Amino acid sequence: METEILRIIPLGAGKEVGRSCVLLVYRGKRILFDCGLHPAHHGIYGLPYFDFIEPEDIDILLVTHFHIDHCGALPYFLARTNFKGKVIMTHPTKAIYNYVLQDFIRICNVGEIDILFDESDLSDSMDKIIPIRFHEELEFDDVKIQAYIAGHVLGAAMFLVDIGGVKILYTGDYSTEEDRHLKPAEIPKCNVDILIVESTYGIRLHEPRDLREEKFKSRVHDIIKKGGRCLLPCFALGKAQELLLILNEYWKEHEELKDVPIYYTGLLATKSLNVFQTYRNMMREDTKEKIEQGENPFHFEDSQDYMEKKPLVIIATPGMLQSGLSRYLFEEWCEDENSGVIFTGYSVEGTLAQQIMNQPNEIQISHKHKTLKLKMDVAVIDFSAHCDFKQTSHFIRKIKPANIVLVHGGQNEMAKLKKALELEHKNQINVHCPQNCQSLIFTFFTEKSAKVVGKAKRNLDNFLTHSDYLALGKGMPNNIPHNLSEDCGLIKFSQEDSPSSERLKIDNTISELDYQDRHPEETKLEIEQEEAIIKEYDDNMVSIEGLFVESQFDNMIINETEIQDFASLSRHKVSQQLVMPFEYDPGFFIKAAEDLFDKVQVVSGNTEDLVNDINLKIEDIDLVYRKRSASFELKWDSSAKSDLLADAIALLIIQLANNPPASMVYNMTNHCKEKQLEKLQFEAFKKVLREHCEEISIVEDNMIEIFDSSQELVAKVDYNAKEVISCDESIKEHLKALLDIHNHSCSPKNDC
Ligand SMILES: [Zn+2]
Ligand SMILES: [Zn+2]
Repeated sequence: METEILRIIPLGAGKEVGRSCVLLVYRGKRILFDCGLHPAHHGIYGLPYFDFIEPEDIDILLVTHFHIDHCGALPYFLARTNFKGKVIMTHPTKAIYNYVLQDFIRICNVGEIDILFDESDLSDSMDKIIPIRFHEELEFDDVKIQAYIAGHVLGAAMFLVDIGGVKILYTGDYSTEEDRHLKPAEIPKCNVDILIVESTYGIRLHEPRDLREEKFKSRVHDIIKKGGRCLLPCFALGKAQELLLILNEYWKEHEELKDVPIYYTGLLATKSLNVFQTYRNMMREDTKEKIEQGENPFHFEDSQDYMEKKPLVIIATPGMLQSGLSRYLFEEWCEDENSGVIFTGYSVEGTLAQQIMNQPNEIQISHKHKTLKLKMDVAVIDFSAHCDFKQTSHFIRKIKPANIVLVHGGQNEMAKLKKALELEHKNQINVHCPQNCQSLIFTFFTEKSAKVVGKAKRNLDNFLTHSDYLALGKGMPNNIPHNLSEDCGLIKFSQEDSPSSERLKIDNTISELDYQDRHPEETKLEIEQEEAIIKEYDDNMVSIEGLFVESQFDNMIINETEIQDFASLSRHKVSQQLVMPFEYDPGFFIKAAEDLFDKVQVVSGNTEDLVNDINLKIEDIDLVYRKRSASFELKWDSSAKSDLLADAIALLIIQLANNPPASMVYNMTNHCKEKQLEKLQFEAFKKVLREHCEEISIVEDNMIEIFDSSQELVAKVDYNAKEVISCDESIKEHLKALLDIHNHSCSPKNDC
């Protein structure tokens, strides 16, 4: 088993609502969920903590839906950072994202608010977005991605990411409640290891839907009865359509309202109608049918005379009165006590909407340096398409994740939800509430599997019979455990459909690291092991010989010679050669080698023959004894094992040559013997001279210079010519006598 570390780091939406952006790091892959802007902050202050990452390292960016707090930073991230990865979102999200951000840029420009990107950045970003269909599985470099319906708004997706078998579900904003036009969130049917879930509503419970609708309709009606203007600030797409559907229904039931106009105005209104018609398949059946029958459920009046009319209902963006039309109308009408504003969605901390919900008497409009009296009626009737506690709890019970990471929620909401979930699941589920930039670490134990391919596979075929394959094949459980020898751990088997390869599931196979090589381009591939042994079910050993090639996701056991074909690794061979003088009988070396090494083989030649070389082999090392040059030649292909063996052989040769046993010297070949004897005699003469003279030095081969105590050259001895040269007669005599004695002792006559 191998331990792998997975990290989750919120770069935004950690203990806050706004600028959703969550980083997932696992097995060298970096995935970013969402790329939003904080609605309550302007300019760079609204961005997620991008400083915390290297955008260049991010492989995939998944955007769940078109709300600004989930996609607003995308044009900036694509245009202003060195991010080079893939951006994925559903088709409708891509279409609506474009409109929503166009509108966002327009509003920011009108309000003279710093904006981080412009129209051209936005249109560039469109080219880089890869659309994904619901339930379609996309795979990029061994990361599998699937989108599930999240409810919430049209096109909103939850993303299921599978990296090496570990599954992470990121919900984004989701709702399991069915509303008038959207399908509710789905529950993916698979084991989820980590659920990253929004916690906007914490443990709050929504009032029943019909009750909320009743309240909403009567509140609107009350304002109309007073002859006032009813302002419904809301997000352009999704919520607006839902409110229109409710109001249309109500207007049909009430004749007296037929002359009261409902405005839904702005550029987005027209565009959104087209989008909703295009993606009608993603809506509830009844709404879809109405659209197909030509009835327009999103009918609205779009004229500019709303400033003169009274009473009226107007749906205006944005939803939290940050800027734009809804803000303008609010400032115009807030001092009119007959008018009213109804907030129908979630309002982020720090926005004007959030401030007004507390019903203050006065409102400071800071950028205009004015104070307005709040006289208009304020109501909050939440049609927020986020889960309440009941829905969250049900969703989690169905998914049964091992770990939960809460994001997209205030600190208090999160803390309460964590407590409630832990209580409900009796601490069986780990619930985490990270703040921005806090890194959560999860540890996974993953099974390793390896495909046996090519020659290695054919080798395996010799051991496994056809019936073994059938037993391992279809209709049987995928993993059949096999007992294994201790140093190999447990290997599990499962056969793939492909007839040319089996898949071995290996928990712990690495017994020794023997071979390492890295392909320059695919450094992630690593050859870890030379041998993998599996033991058969019935205790018969089956051994597979080959290289264990580990990539991040796909491991293989490959015959060494096929490494290029299967692993696209280049195979390099380093041939080594070493020449070492050895002036003695090579038979001595062979004898000494036989005592030390297991497999010493004389391939050709012998010690008696004085002309032909002797070829030897010690395991994988080739040795040639060259008689003419009196030397050993070693040749081998480099590997950790062979290099070591060659070192040992070389050491043996050096040891024998430097400290030759006496028997070796006297059994030398004739030529060598003479040379060796001469050398020994010369050494002996030098020894004699050293005992008699002050200092000696050798000028060239066999020429000896003798100095006195004051470093003056006093004599020279030519050892080969057996001559003494000196100006000093007595020294000359003395040296001559020494040379004679030495010559006499070395002469063949004295040989016994
Ligand atoms: Zn949302
Ligand atoms: Zn959101």
